[in-house]
Amino acid sequence: MSLVADELIRFSSVLRIAYNFLTGRDYLKRKKFREKKKLISVGLPFSDLVYAFPDLIPVFPIRMHEFKIHKYLTYLGSASNIFGWNRVTNFLGFVKDLGIKDISQTVDNIIEDVISTINAKYNEMYDYGEECGVPTDFCYGVKSLYGMNVSKGKNCDANLNYTIRCSAWNKYLESLKAIGNPSKQIWIEVPPRNIGNALELFIDNITKGLEELEKISSYNYNSNTLRDHFRTVNQIHQSYKQILYEIGNADFYPCNPATFSEILALLNISFHDYNSSATRFRDNIISLFNEMKGRITKGIGMDVSKMPKILITPMFGGWEPKTHDIIYELGGRVLYGDWDLLQFLEDIPISNRMDPIEAYAQFLMNANQIGIGCDNNTLTESYVRLARNFEADGLIFIQVFGCHSISNCYTMLKEKLRRELEIPSIAINFNKMGENVEQVKTRLGAFMEMFN
Ligand code: SF4
Repeated sequence: MSLVADELIRFSSVLRIAYNFLTGRDYLKRKKFREKKKLISVGLPFSDLVYAFPDLIPVFPIRMHEFKIHKYLTYLGSASNIFGWNRVTNFLGFVKDLGIKDISQTVDNIIEDVISTINAKYNEMYDYGEECGVPTDFCYGVKSLYGMNVSKGKNCDANLNYTIRCSAWNKYLESLKAIGNPSKQIWIEVPPRNIGNALELFIDNITKGLEELEKISSYNYNSNTLRDHFRTVNQIHQSYKQILYEIGNADFYPCNPATFSEILALLNISFHDYNSSATRFRDNIISLFNEMKGRITKGIGMDVSKMPKILITPMFGGWEPKTHDIIYELGGRVLYGDWDLLQFLEDIPISNRMDPIEAYAQFLMNANQIGIGCDNNTLTESYVRLARNFEADGLIFIQVFGCHSISNCYTMLKEKLRRELEIPSIAINFNKMGENVEQVKTRLGAFMEMFN
């Protein structure tokens, strides 16, 4: 067996996650037309309630698009259809049978290809959003989401809309009605502050949201189904954190650091809807962590102990994906941990005695209060906490054009990082992927000089 082929097999969970993301369109078509399931559009990691109903499927709308799929992923996918993913070692025999001899691609190349394919689609959706008249002063994330909903929203039975502290986000959700898709708008308001009876109100809002979903589903709401889903989600959160901290903070990586950043970017985007199957995503992320550990134990990977650790955040509203390659070329390594920053990787406090709706309300309330925060002080604290957890040597702050909610606390943050963690930081403006890469390179060059 060639070394490269061996690597494909030993690192197959990340390829499975990529495959499940990129082949979403076929998967969802099958679910919708053959199995008569209904699709529910979600944005940000707010898909959980949809999983309370066996015939509803959450989808982050970009996944309804067609993606160019790397030929090795296609082979891997075809092999899995025949042999099952667990017997993916048969992949090689399958490829040989097809007469494809040139297995020369490494995992690094394949993952890089996946990320650039997804990002090209994001830019396409951004352009489409603008063409369709989304206000020009909206951020990249909102514009591209708008484009996704205009182009594919008609396939969904409903949009599950959570209102949060960002007014641009809430305006975007409002604008979905005007697109003219037949999908129903289901609203869940997250209270801005946990004061008075806010938690009770929130529990009530979630209950109403579930009632609306129940009207679309052929099943009645069953608290055990939701409780089971939360158990799955807690396992996802745990493995995600292990990858971020046990692997991300280690001195030896299971792959080169640019690939590791790309895997983190892939996890970040797949986390929105767990690629429409939480249990499948859970299995993949658990085996991803185990595969990473296995490679490290065998000494497969790269010594990164001398490479400064740079945290890039926030990136979920849009960021320049070339940044981690540039940092790598300049001798550093990049970590992304936005969902932990926003407390979406905490445990949902379920138990057999606790009502899962209340547990979820508490979980989201915590994310809103401590992660996103109601003011810039709390948000700044979240950035500092993440940098501290990563033991970061430096921080790159993404100043997203049009964002007045999570991107306007840099002055305060810079000062805090300098005073409390004694690490340098830099703010990089972002409007659209691929724009100003040369300028970003120059600024990062100067920044990374500090670590020499
Ligand atoms: S918080 Fe900022 S980046 Fe996120 S949706 Fe609102 S404006 Fe966009």
